[in-house]
Amino acid sequence: MVFFLNFSLFHFREDSSVSEIKRWTLNDFDIGRALGKGKFGHVYLARERKSGFIVALKVLYRAELESANVEKQLRREIEIQSHLRHINILRLYGYFYDEKRVYLILEYAPNGELYKKLRAVTKFTEDVAAQYIQQMAHALLYLHSKHVIHRDIKPENLLLGLRGELKIADFGWSVHAPEARRQTLCGTLDYLPPEMVEGREHGRHVDVW
Ligand code: ATP
Ligand code: MG
Repeated sequence: MVFFLNFSLFHFREDSSVSEIKRWTLNDFDIGRALGKGKFGHVYLARERKSGFIVALKVLYRAELESANVEKQLRREIEIQSHLRHINILRLYGYFYDEKRVYLILEYAPNGELYKKLRAVTKFTEDVAAQYIQQMAHALLYLHSKHVIHRDIKPENLLLGLRGELKIADFGWSVHAPEARRQTLCGTLDYLPPEMVEGREHGRHVDVW
């Protein structure tokens, strides 16, 4: 019951019309331990004070975003990820900012990166791998049906939920591409698909490579 109430608080905020939009601030959260470090900032465990709802708060420094010229990319990440609703895609509940930082309110993935799990066991059994691939396939079918291409699928960007369910995260390179073929070389070198390496146009199939 408590959980439901907590959750509905976020729902209320997202689905509310113009008049009811809640502006979050840092004071709405208790900050806990660091969960990880990214290129532009840190991710912390956090709890929304009123509801007790647990989230991951990604903190980005505006000066760093500006000097790396990735503000547009961050806008895209927020715009795209906040509209997605799928069990295998990490939720972005909202965002806020102050003079120095931008904060992303993310679904907390208690079991961390798939990458770390893979490193720990060196290789997954066929059974385990098949389950991850099935969840990936479901998530990608959903993403692509919304004309979203992620463009940076890799074990570091796949997080694990409470029951080990896969969650696609990090939409920093994603695009909404209804039909146009894309040209940008992007993602992570180790995982680039052939069409990008060869400088050809690309579409949703880059997520499958
Ligand atoms: P990079 O571009 O270097 O991958 P980034 O800026 O995109 O970094 P993230 O990958 O989003 O940052 O987050 C950094 C790390 O923090 C992740 O690799 C993961 O270990 C941890 N982390 C991020 N989000 C969550 C979350 N929602 N739940 C649990 N851990 C998280
Ligand atoms: Mg990342």
